Amino acid sequence: MDGLMMDRPLLVKQIAERAEGVFADREIVARTQAGVERSTYGQVVERARRLAGALTDLGIRPGDRVASFAWNSLRHLELYLAVPSMGAILHTLNIRLFEDDLRYVAEHAGDRVVFLDASLAESMPRFAEVEREIVMPDGGRERQGALDYEELVSGGDPGFEFPDFAEGTAAAMCYTSGTTGRPKGVLYSHRSIVLHTLGAAVPDSMGIREADSVMPVVPMFHAMAWGIPYVAAMAGARQVLPGPDVSPRGLADLIEAEGVTWSAGVPTIWNGVLELEPPPDLSSLRELKAGGAAVPESLIRGFDERFGVPVVQGWGMTETSPLAATSRVPAGLDPAADEGYALRACQGRIQPLIEFRVDPDAGGELQVRGPWIARAYYEDASGDDKFTEDGWLRTGDVAEVERGSYIRLVDRTKDLVKSGGEWISSVELENAIMAHPDVVEAAVIAVPDERWGERPCACVVRRPGSDLGPDALRGHLSGRVAKWWIPERFEFVDEVPKTSVGKFDKKVLRARFAGAQAGLASQAG
Ligand code: ADP
Repeated sequence: MDGLMMDRPLLVKQIAERAEGVFADREIVARTQAGVERSTYGQVVERARRLAGALTDLGIRPGDRVASFAWNSLRHLELYLAVPSMGAILHTLNIRLFEDDLRYVAEHAGDRVVFLDASLAESMPRFAEVEREIVMPDGGRERQGALDYEELVSGGDPGFEFPDFAEGTAAAMCYTSGTTGRPKGVLYSHRSIVLHTLGAAVPDSMGIREADSVMPVVPMFHAMAWGIPYVAAMAGARQVLPGPDVSPRGLADLIEAEGVTWSAGVPTIWNGVLELEPPPDLSSLRELKAGGAAVPESLIRGFDERFGVPVVQGWGMTETSPLAATSRVPAGLDPAADEGYALRACQGRIQPLIEFRVDPDAGGELQVRGPWIARAYYEDASGDDKFTEDGWLRTGDVAEVERGSYIRLVDRTKDLVKSGGEWISSVELENAIMAHPDVVEAAVIAVPDERWGERPCACVVRRPGSDLGPDALRGHLSGRVAKWWIPERFEFVDEVPKTSVGKFDKKVLRARFAGAQAGLASQAG
């Protein structure tokens, strides 16, 4: 027997309409290189309607791909709401991709128009197939031949009605950064975005509230800024968009100036803030989210001790919309007890409506399924092996389960170090090294070894002025990790190279060190 409830489609426009109808006066703040702009949900959604009308006049139809090449900005937020709501597909281009990959991605997606921030006018290539470029003013340069965003918006119809359509319709797309092979397109649907938004909004997940001032540091060109712009709009939270300056000091200043209560970014960003001297005033923050890469326990402890700000870890992938797990301690457990810290350093409990399994036949690989998990890549069968025959996504992450429900990532399959036939977790080793007070960052890679097959090599960034050497680090590690895990080889580097979205770039480290011999010279220290 069917239930007797209405079957209304779940659509992104409902998030926009709620923000407009319920939270019209709530402020949106955006910092650009030209200064600070202030708007409201009411204005943002009215401008999104005008934009949708103007795009329709330009010939953009449902299903067309509309690309963005932009910072976390006010106009990018307008695009997040306007483009899906009119039935077109927002394709957020990663502004840090290499030009060759960018061209591939824009062509593969079939982008018809691109919206770009003026400050990026000189860094965006000309895409052969793109029919029109639209420049969003932010204190940057002009771009020859491009239309002006503000003219487009002012000419659009403020009464444009967002249409109804099926909830399975595509709404947005993101390409994964392509650690192997070409980038692959993940195509989100209206239904997946709305359900992801609801799932991320539960109190023990992001738990964003109307009273919050939310600052997404994670770029809007990376995995939909973890869905934060939608969660915040649905909740009516004030948004503070940082624009191009995502330096630790620049972010800390914005947190203080705008009274940010909640923010999210990769661990590298928060590590930079933790290291600031003199320490910034972060007293407005009630919580920080960190994810996209393993969050070291030392970072979580550091924020508690230095700022009294809890760091909550999340795990996910572009393919998982992205939020798939959140780590909070179970009821009754002290988050500041050792066991609490150990659990907070896990990737956490699976999000509601998502299922996971750890496949022993696939080397302990974590696999997930659910209504906001990709089931295929956009027009690219070369990624089909990421999906199992029985309908699960293979994450490429190796996991263990603790306390029955906590996912702990051991490593990415490709980053594990296989020494003498046994696996060493690069992530665990990094965390143990980063627990040393004189270590700012550490990344562990596998290097070939005649006797053991592979051995770990630790690339370490020391605190300025520290003369920490390999022997002291080995002493620090003994007792923290198994003896045979302790690296023979340490490379002291000025900086761990980062990917386009701020994660450790082990490819670069491998190219630099995995071919080289023991690196004895750089061990002296
Ligand atoms: P990329 O391959 O460019 O990193 P994604 O941004 O989609 O693409 O990254 C997803 C991957 O990031 C996950 O499969 C996982 O390896 C890693 N990751 C994400 N969150 C965490 C986390 N909290 N801890 C450890 N690894 C994480």
